[in-house]
Amino acid sequence: MRAWKIHTPGPVHSRPLQLVEVPTPQPGPEEIRIAVSTCGVCRTDLHITEGDLPVHQPHVTPGHEVVGRVDARGKNAERFAIDERVGVPWLRYTCGTCRYCSRGDENLCPSARFTGWDADGGYADYTIAHEQYVYSIPDTFNDEDAAVLLCAGIIGYRALMRTNLPAGGRLGLYGFGGSAHLAAQVAIHQGATVHVMTRQPHARGLALSLGAASAQEVDAPPPEPLDAAIIFAPIGSIIPTALEALDAGGTLVLSGIHMTATPPLDYQHHLFNEKNIRSVTANTRADGEAFLRLAAEIPLQVTTSARRFEDALQALDDLKHGRFDGAAVLHLE
Ligand SMILES: [Zn+2]
Ligand SMILES: [Zn+2]
Repeated sequence: MRAWKIHTPGPVHSRPLQLVEVPTPQPGPEEIRIAVSTCGVCRTDLHITEGDLPVHQPHVTPGHEVVGRVDARGKNAERFAIDERVGVPWLRYTCGTCRYCSRGDENLCPSARFTGWDADGGYADYTIAHEQYVYSIPDTFNDEDAAVLLCAGIIGYRALMRTNLPAGGRLGLYGFGGSAHLAAQVAIHQGATVHVMTRQPHARGLALSLGAASAQEVDAPPPEPLDAAIIFAPIGSIIPTALEALDAGGTLVLSGIHMTATPPLDYQHHLFNEKNIRSVTANTRADGEAFLRLAAEIPLQVTTSARRFEDALQALDDLKHGRFDGAAVLHLE
């Protein structure tokens, strides 16, 4: 089968990914093999490819927003039928017994493994997943849109939950790509007023068309104080800007897996008056199930940029430079 593999992490323009021919993998006990139809291109793929995140498995195949059909089942894998449509997400495995798993915080499990980082992901014709970490995909969504829900959607949802936004609250979103454009729709559906701050003029247009109350430059203050804000952009220098935009008692959520350096914070100016900062680390399976139900119920409008499988490197480069709205999705068929 064909698979993209990272030979040496580095800037996308140095072509750190290579398209190679490898043996088709076989599912082990409780695992399924998925014939990949689409795979979303997430910013985390860019961080892994460029070496912002440490290497977990040398020559890994990236991709953790995988939609396809079950093509083979390992021993005792009975949850999904052959040909059933499923989605493979970022969270790949947890121990189930540590203090975090035991209290329902499996996203914090020290033994957690992640698709496309600890094991090969979906930039390939086939991929393997443990059946208990795979989702059914609601019929509402085609393969292209469903891919984006699996990480961008679920993580954006968890970030939104962690804002503890009051009913009818004022929410600021910093950065407006794959994750933010879905979180915005969930927040608006729940009655929030959403203000978007992004460098990309075309993303400001998308934000307004999806129902945002305002859209402006990243460093421009929103038109009213915020009860909560989420930073989706991997840029630490936005943290003080977003804290200044919060009302007293407000919460800032950082949704990225990687961020550039954070400037010093001034206690009186940025933190006093009970302002909160919270990060987001992956998600639980319960988050994923809840989000996919809600996504179908709303239903979310997913903005995508369809790409050929062969153009994965170009898609990563375009993501790095903000050249498209929403999320890029590779098509394998
Ligand atoms: Zn655990
Ligand atoms: Zn992701």
